[in-house]
Parts: sequence; C-alpha cells; structure tokens
Amino acid sequence: MNAPHGVLAVTHGLALVGLRARTVRIECALAPGIPSLRLVGLPDAAVREAGDRVRTAFARSRLHWPRERIVVNLAPADLPKFGSGFDLAIAAAVLVATRQVPAAALDGAWLFGEVGLDGSVRAVPGVLPAAEGARRAGAARLVVGDPAAPEAALVDGPDVLPVRDLGELRSVLADEQRARRASPAPYVLPGNGPDLRDVRGQAVARRAVELAAAGGHHLLLAGPPGCGKTMLARRLHGLLPPLSLPAALEVASLASLAGERAAEDPLSLEPPLREPHHSVSAAGLIGGGSGIPRPGELSLAHHGLLLLDELLETPRWVLDALRQPLERGEVLITRARAAVRYPASVLLVAATNPCPCGYLGSPTRACTCRPDRIERYRARLSGPLLDRLDLQVELRPVERDQLAGPPDGEDTATVAARVADARELAARRWGEGVWNRDAPAEQLRSTCRPTALRALARAVEDLGLSARSFDRSLRVARTIADLDDAERVDTVHVEEAVAYRLADAVAV
Ligand SMILES: [Zn+2]
Repeated sequence: MNAPHGVLAVTHGLALVGLRARTVRIECALAPGIPSLRLVGLPDAAVREAGDRVRTAFARSRLHWPRERIVVNLAPADLPKFGSGFDLAIAAAVLVATRQVPAAALDGAWLFGEVGLDGSVRAVPGVLPAAEGARRAGAARLVVGDPAAPEAALVDGPDVLPVRDLGELRSVLADEQRARRASPAPYVLPGNGPDLRDVRGQAVARRAVELAAAGGHHLLLAGPPGCGKTMLARRLHGLLPPLSLPAALEVASLASLAGERAAEDPLSLEPPLREPHHSVSAAGLIGGGSGIPRPGELSLAHHGLLLLDELLETPRWVLDALRQPLERGEVLITRARAAVRYPASVLLVAATNPCPCGYLGSPTRACTCRPDRIERYRARLSGPLLDRLDLQVELRPVERDQLAGPPDGEDTATVAARVADARELAARRWGEGVWNRDAPAEQLRSTCRPTALRALARAVEDLGLSARSFDRSLRVARTIADLDDAERVDTVHVEEAVAYRLADAVAV
C-alpha cells in the first residue's frame, strides 16, 4: 500500500460514543528498531492491552509477527476510545502491514471484535450500535467475531463476515477461504403477559392505565397494600403496541451496550419493562461505570415502561435523577473526557402507599400515622416530579365479594386494540412514534374547542394547579378524545383529564 509518512496499512474500527458508533481510522507503520508495538491516539488501558493480546494471538495462530517496531495510530485522536473492540482492526492492520494479506482485501471493510490470547475472535458489548455505525459510515463489509455475527446482521447494512479466529481472518482476507455469511437473529413478537381480566374492580385505575398506554402519560397509583397497584402496573405493559423495527434496534442496542443480551438472542419487538428496586445505585439507574459507560435502568426502559414501586420509599436523589429524563427523554452521563448521552424516553408508572403505614383512607384498617409524618412523606414526591405524573389515581381495597366473583372488566386484547387505534391517530397528527404526551403545545390547542380550553383554564385556577399542568392536562384530554374517536377535544374530555390531577391539588 502506497501511503504517506511510512503508513503501511489502514483499517477501520468503531468507537462507541453513547448509542452512536464513530469510525476510527487505524494506521499501522513498521519502523526499524527493537520489536514492539506502540499504540497512540488516546487509548484507555483496555485498548493499550490490545497490543499484548494481538501479539500473543499472532503467535498462537502461527501468524508472522515482524521483527520491527510497530506503531499503530488510532485517529481521530480527540475521540475517546474505550474497550477491547479495536483488537480485530489492529490485527488486520498488522496483517496488511506485514503483507500477509493484500491491502485491497480491506477495501470497504470495518472490523469490530476482541481478540483472545488463543487467537479466537470474541464478541464485545455494543455490537449492534457498532454495526449501525458501520452502516452509516458506508461500510460494505463488517468483520466481527463468530458469536457477534447474528446481532450485527440485524442491521440492514454491510455484509457481515464472521470469523472464528485470526487464522480464519487471514485466510478470508487473503481470499484462500470463502467468507461465510451471517444470518440475522430472528424477530419475535411480544408474548402474552398477565391479563387485565385478572384485575377485579378498580374501574378508575383501569381507565388510567389505558390512558397511560394510549398517550404515554406518566401514572401514579396510590393506595394501601394489596389493592392491586403492582398488578395493574404490570398489565399496562401488555397494552403497549409492539415496537417499530428502528425502535426495537435502539432498545436492543442499549441492552447490547449494557451486556444484557446475547448476540444470538432474537430481536424482540416487545417494549421493555424495567422494575428497579428503590435501593438502586446511581450508576444502576442513570448509567456509568468504567470503560464504555453502561446504560442504566432509565435507558434500558427506553421505548418501554419504567415501574417504580414504593415511590415514596425511594431516596430523594433518585426522584431528582428522574426529572431530566422525563423532560428530555435522555440521560447525560458526564465523564472526565466526554459526556455521553443515552436515550431514555420512558413511560413512568409509580406506585406508592398513601402514607408510611399504608392504610390512610382504608375502610378496613385505621391509619396509625401522625399528620406531620404523612405531610413529610408526601412532600418527598416534590412539586416538580408530581407535576410530571399526569395521571394520579387513589385506589381503594377491593371488596371481598368482588374478588371472589367472575371477572368484571375487559381483557387485555380488547383494551390493547383501542390503545393501538388511539396511538395511530396520534401518530397521524404529530408524526410516527410521537405520543400525545410530547405533542407541541400550539398545535395541540388548535385541536381543542374554545369552550374546552376555557373550562380547563377555570379548573386549573380553581384547583390551584401549576401553569405547566394546563398543557399537561390538555394532552391527557387529547388522549381521552382519541379513545373517543373525537376529532376535537371537548369540555367533557377536559373534565375527565383534570380529575386525574386531584391528588396533585391535595398533596401540594
Ligand atoms: Zn398511615
């Protein structure tokens, strides 16, 4: 290869920055001197160790290692590079620089994978976003380790060439062996979860669950233990429509980065459901850790449901950490060298006892809490977070007769069909995948009757709600109207929407 500055070989690898992968140009040069390998271009410890891994793997694979000084440059230098995913591209660069394969063999090829000391090529977390990055960069081929191939092939882009070890990499690139083609992991549709029919009574809460699924409105279920809060919250998951293919790839990419999916796992079109415990760590909730930041629960629930039980037992910092993702649909993980953003557009369903003992308002047991304790307990929810929970429902325990009787409500399939129709109306109005929750305020108002807007303004004033809750309630009213198949939001829709804010008015 005829390249300037003594560069003998150029290959392409991928650096993960958040959910996006950027191309890293890997240049390899040989120079006279004591045999060694030097990596330049801001590599972290794992990347630096790549030199040792690749050299040992060459020996074990009976590949020639030059008796010269090797310099490998990873460019651009200002791009942080983490992890072991560059090994394969570095190995290929050395193969070209030492003329064990022709340079042309790597035309249009991107490489991503870790090399084991025995010469095997392994999968690394983030294969899916790496493959998406290779597609965006215009790669014709993507070389990955055998185990990573089905996941990489989910992306409709470059041809995925799986290699078991460095020996196979060399023979494929040298055209001595026909490259195998990877077939993508299969897709699976959501399975059947628990059904809404199992829930007895709780008509208001059932309705709120339907509205949450149809409009993406965050939901607060408050009530004594055993009234079915968690049962309802889990059934909300079954009402969410299957993910679109791009959304499913995004969800799988985040799980891949978190090391939570195996490469051969099928691509699931089921929206995620995450239920972090309230003792979750900051890194567990938001994301973090050394090397490539691991996405946290908030991002693993992207395009799906985040279920927080015992919201008021949850530490203050967790509640505060929820605000930004709920507002912006992403989390920001700040690092010494760079900030990483992960998407986190979630539907939050929070459940809580009405007071520390749990029995405030219960007809069967008396609450034993002092009023000031109840006040302190509720204050933990804080105005700004409560403000974002657009649907607030107080549940009462179900009568024993009702529990023993036959199912008294609709099943999941019936409600899910209505939800899907309402989501379709919202998608036509605001764009694919946009929920009423995120509807632009001005356009939203233009779909409402003036009488409805006046009625809402009056209600917001009477109840002493925040100015922000005007638009938030209007979005809920839009969802109610959509489920009604009504083109314009009417007074009756607004009245129902405001009824879900009563706890807000009482608690703050
Ligand atoms: Zn109590």
